[in-house]
Amino acid sequence: MAERDDNPQIKDGCLQRKVCGEGFLPQNFSRQGNRINLPMFGRVKVILHRPIPDGFKIKTASVTKKADGYYLTLSLEDATVPTVKPEFNPDSITGIDVGLKEFLTTSEGETVAIPQHYRKSQKRLRVIQKRVSRREKGSNRRLKTVKQLGKQHKKVADKRKDFHFKTANNLLKKYDVIAVEDLNVKGLARTQLAKSVLDAGWSSFLSILTNKAENAGLLVIPVKAFATSQDCSNCGLKVPKKLHERGHDCLHCGCSLDRDHNAAINIKNRAVGHSVLKAHRVSEAIAGFGEKPTLYCIQSV
Ligand SMILES: [Zn+2]
Repeated sequence: MAERDDNPQIKDGCLQRKVCGEGFLPQNFSRQGNRINLPMFGRVKVILHRPIPDGFKIKTASVTKKADGYYLTLSLEDATVPTVKPEFNPDSITGIDVGLKEFLTTSEGETVAIPQHYRKSQKRLRVIQKRVSRREKGSNRRLKTVKQLGKQHKKVADKRKDFHFKTANNLLKKYDVIAVEDLNVKGLARTQLAKSVLDAGWSSFLSILTNKAENAGLLVIPVKAFATSQDCSNCGLKVPKKLHERGHDCLHCGCSLDRDHNAAINIKNRAVGHSVLKAHRVSEAIAGFGEKPTLYCIQSV
């Protein structure tokens, strides 16, 4: 959302809050071309980042203030989204593991690197942050730098989101079922891995992946994260290793893999026996019988 028409109803106090208006119901707003009528705001001109597709019903709208302007978020209802893709293949499955070195590693040994621009923009963020603290409090120069900082924060967040969307799309193009570690990020607090998980935005990636899978009628299955890196994916025996040890070399069976690759196979194996996949196989076997499996299971295997 960009400029607004002059409207006395907009009070500056309101505009300084992050979320300016939330959950407007459709009966309270209307749209004519690129202008939208909102309660509290009146008629405002909007820039549509994406066109509103035909046949979609606007359910709610909310207005958010960000560093570079006001954003209007519309949530749409789409009756055409499939509940589950009838031909989804339970055997087209991969496991993914989050790591320190790579953003993710699949059970097939593919890796997705953390993009370079990530680190660059993070660095720039720190530079501006320092600049803010050097400026005198209350000064115009400080205020300007704070604004700049907000813009840089948004830039970082946008790039990250874009990367997450692309990565999720690529995975779902290749696989119908994706097993992930059910990471309790809080439980990981203060470890080196936790920092990596938080920096890379793993949990926001997982929610994007889950959402996309749901919309495509595909599955994301979270499994218990316990000892996925310590167990041998080939023989199942324990191979203890510290966080800095990058390889998995099993003394019992001779299996030798990259640490994260071994973990990703374990994650995949834990999901293979999942009840949702079993249920799908059964309902496939008995044609015309059985309920379709639920899409996203919150419970772990
Ligand atoms: Zn082994």
